[in-house]
Amino acid sequence: MKYKLSKSTFIRGLQCEKSLYLYKKHYKLKDPISPSLQAIFDQGNQVGLLAQELFPGGIDSSPSSHLKMMESVIKTKEFLDKGESIIYEATFTYNQVLAALDILVRDDKGWKAYEVKSSTSVSDTYVKDAAIQYYTIVNSGIDLVDISIVHINNNYVLDGELDISQLFTIKSVKDKVLDYLPRIPKEVSRLKNVIKLDSTPNIDIGKHCINPYQCDFKETCWKHIPDYSVFDISMLKKDKKFYLYNQGILTLDQIDLSITELSANQVLQVNAEVNNESYINNDEISRFIENLNYPLFFLDFETINPAVPKYQGTKPYQQVLFQYSIHSKQDINSQLVHKEFLADPSKDPRIQFIDQLIKNCDNSGDIIVYNISFERSRLNELIEQFPEYKTPLQSIVLRLKDLMIPFQKKWYYTPEMKGSYSIKNVLPALVSDLRYDNLNIKEGEMASSIFLSMANNTFIGDESNVRDDLKDYCRLDTYAMVRILEKLIKTTNQRLK
Ligand code: SF4
Repeated sequence: MKYKLSKSTFIRGLQCEKSLYLYKKHYKLKDPISPSLQAIFDQGNQVGLLAQELFPGGIDSSPSSHLKMMESVIKTKEFLDKGESIIYEATFTYNQVLAALDILVRDDKGWKAYEVKSSTSVSDTYVKDAAIQYYTIVNSGIDLVDISIVHINNNYVLDGELDISQLFTIKSVKDKVLDYLPRIPKEVSRLKNVIKLDSTPNIDIGKHCINPYQCDFKETCWKHIPDYSVFDISMLKKDKKFYLYNQGILTLDQIDLSITELSANQVLQVNAEVNNESYINNDEISRFIENLNYPLFFLDFETINPAVPKYQGTKPYQQVLFQYSIHSKQDINSQLVHKEFLADPSKDPRIQFIDQLIKNCDNSGDIIVYNISFERSRLNELIEQFPEYKTPLQSIVLRLKDLMIPFQKKWYYTPEMKGSYSIKNVLPALVSDLRYDNLNIKEGEMASSIFLSMANNTFIGDESNVRDDLKDYCRLDTYAMVRILEKLIKTTNQRLK
């Protein structure tokens, strides 16, 4: 029997009928999958396979390709007829809905369904997801006594061998599923009617484009939104952005500042755009510069945060440092010196990282970072994990200074920054000859997923080339800080201590 809806298209349709229609009728319009989204999918698959070990010895009902899901339905029926009691990817259809369940188990109480998620809690969407599965499976003749979400337990700490039973939490959602169940037949019929439509539903963009998931038709539906729009106003709440949009206000020059409530910095952003003007608060920047003490160290960290902890004493999704870059200058006239660390992905990097970091930071001078909360939190976590390094690491923490502040507080703002104070937007606005675009690795998420794939032995490619790419990326982050500070000094004509 041909199916019309799957568990994922059902959830897609609940989020937005247009998204369901486009997915079914205009699949080619779907946005390409970004490397960071692909890394999330890959991690989800890894977690799914690991969760099967909670119920070992099962039989796999996966199809030969995701386009041939009916193979799974046939296999599942065969396995059930043979009396199998643990089936992975058990797949059922009912009322033209197809549901592929991660794990189906029969114990002395009866059949139980388990859906695996790589998140750390159960969301409302997961309950709806479980409800469409329950509806399909029960109506296919399997009398489920329970249905659960298996998710990551973020309190688990790796101690010795990976303990699968501790890594996962199994949470029954049967009561919530039964509450939602009466709504399913109506929703299924509504969404089947959407698929039958002759033309795309007329649905405008809104908060549903990002909630519960980032929709993958944004490139199509958001085409009319200019590159720089009210959606880029810094720190403006989503409700307010859509309120402006719904008033027909798309660009910053269309905002009437006499009737629109904005913060002082948001007004500054709008005025900068409308008047094509930069704002430089010399006094504040001078004070910031005067507060810096040589020698200066410019420091940047890269981390991985795997769902499944890799190193002893770490938890799921804990940030683990694997790389840093430091540029340093002893005094105003001295040469810029560069030092770096990039871990061997086959080993726990932390002790080596700490030892080298302490050496490379020397004992005095300010350590400049961009977004202090990230570096400070990672260092404090290291202190917690390795208390024997408390004194030198704490002294590094106390020497940190944040180069993001002048931009976050809009002491220095140019229209090119487009409301952002991320180093990726600040750098081209201040230093035109330095760019991330020319690098093979252009962002931290990409660096992280590449290093994690090397650590997991799933990396495909030339490791030595990619290690150079990682170094290039991290080195640019700290060199960018050097150049940004130089520009601030030049602008205000200040001298450092
Ligand atoms: S981008 Fe928004 S409006 Fe367009 S299909 Fe997705 S959710 Fe619907």
